[in-house]
Amino acid sequence: MRRGVKAGLRHYGRSSILTQNTAVKASTVQSLETITNPPVDLLSPDEQMMKDTVRKLAQEKIQPLVAKMDAESQMDPSVLNALFENGLMGVEIEAEYGGTNSSFFVANLVIEELAKVDPSVSVLVDVHNTLINTLFRKLGTPEQKEKYLPKLATDTIGSFCLSEAESGSDAFALRTSAVKQGDYYIINGTKLWITNAEHAGVFLVMANANPTAGYKGITTFIVDRDTEGLIIGKKEDKMCIRASSTCPVTFDNVKIPASNVLGQVGMGYRYAIEMLNEGRIGIGAQMLGLSEGCFDATVPYTMDRKQFGKRVFDFQGMQHQIAHVATQIEAARLLVYNAARKKEAGVPFIKEASMAKLFASEVATLTTSKCIEWMGGVGITRTYPVEKFYRDCKIGTIYEGTSNIQMNTIAKCIAAEMS
Ligand SMILES: Cc1cc2nc3c(=O)[nH]c(=O)nc-3n(C[C@H](O)[C@H](O)[C@H](O)COP(=O)(O)OP(=O)(O)OC[C@H]3O[C@@H](n4cnc5c(N)ncnc54)[C@H](O)[C@@H]3O)c2cc1C
Repeated sequence: MRRGVKAGLRHYGRSSILTQNTAVKASTVQSLETITNPPVDLLSPDEQMMKDTVRKLAQEKIQPLVAKMDAESQMDPSVLNALFENGLMGVEIEAEYGGTNSSFFVANLVIEELAKVDPSVSVLVDVHNTLINTLFRKLGTPEQKEKYLPKLATDTIGSFCLSEAESGSDAFALRTSAVKQGDYYIINGTKLWITNAEHAGVFLVMANANPTAGYKGITTFIVDRDTEGLIIGKKEDKMCIRASSTCPVTFDNVKIPASNVLGQVGMGYRYAIEMLNEGRIGIGAQMLGLSEGCFDATVPYTMDRKQFGKRVFDFQGMQHQIAHVATQIEAARLLVYNAARKKEAGVPFIKEASMAKLFASEVATLTTSKCIEWMGGVGITRTYPVEKFYRDCKIGTIYEGTSNIQMNTIAKCIAAEMS
């Protein structure tokens, strides 16, 4: 299994997987070969193989642990091992660094498939791949890449530290400072809401190295977990994505060498914007997967449950609602896939990314609420996975830019297009 997943991913390319993946129907392969402009949701054999393999992994290794991890607010170590062993923590990292050498689109398929089973595991993989790995890959010096990418691909989790008590949506109002002293920087401040902090081995920290320059002083620093003065605070006790750790992280006179600056001094604001612009497609994928997982867990119940001598699925009042939600999920999928494909193609995608995240979050809210209603009373019990999806969906409208912030971005893009 392990070798199969990694081998398939490593040989990403439109023709390499045909002999490896018996799950792909011959008709699918033929149609891909003959269609010159394939629809955004028509997957290449490699993409389909990856989707199928992550689905199997999620069902076998994660599904049995979901309820326990949620109840205990704790990620099981076996899940972390499975993610690393199967190459899911280095999806885009190049093979020379021990990564899976795949694509941004595939990273989003991974996030979607994991979210169908557990959105907590999905966001762990999302932040690690789309923010941390990408920043290292794009900005790292050869030495930084050599040191960190192999670890990120195989055993070290990363955290992205931007938000603070007074800087949430207004991210660049951050107060964490980095004062240069000779060949070192001294970092002081506290970050809040840091995903993966409980297990992270490396933190990418946005701190201001020149406050007089305002946001243009913001710089990205690499801070290892064992650095003196780095303190991981108490994990938040959340209503949703409970197995995903969210902690405050304090930097108390943390001394790091100047060689730990990632990219250029004063460019951190731009790196953060760019990462979040593309990273939020991943949150769209998470919300899409969550909706699909919830829908798939619910509709069969409506086909089993009988009232008034009929399956509840057979009432037209039910069918119209189910059809409506299925259509919304399909629209969310197309928005998410299209934004990911545009990013990958190197064409403008910022408006589409915000639309995908905004809409997929709304669809997740609608889907999970309707699914509970379709199940009646049992929908709110922990016997079924639906109530957890209902709780988990709430985060989609908050992190990596709230829904209002997505709408601000979309409106800005429209204004630019119209002027
Ligand atoms: C579970 C979780 C995990 C997270 N993980 C990370 C992480 O790993 N790293 C990290 O750096 N951060 C992380 N965050 C922080 C997250 O990005 C922020 O919570 C988010 O940006 C919103 O900021 P805020 O919570 O301070 O809300 P606020 O900014 O205070 O927003 C409150 C309300 O005001 C609205 N609002 C604010 N400004 C405007 C505006 N200009 N126009 C219209 N409405 C506006 C918002 O839409 C919202 O409804 C995480 C948060 C959570 C909850």
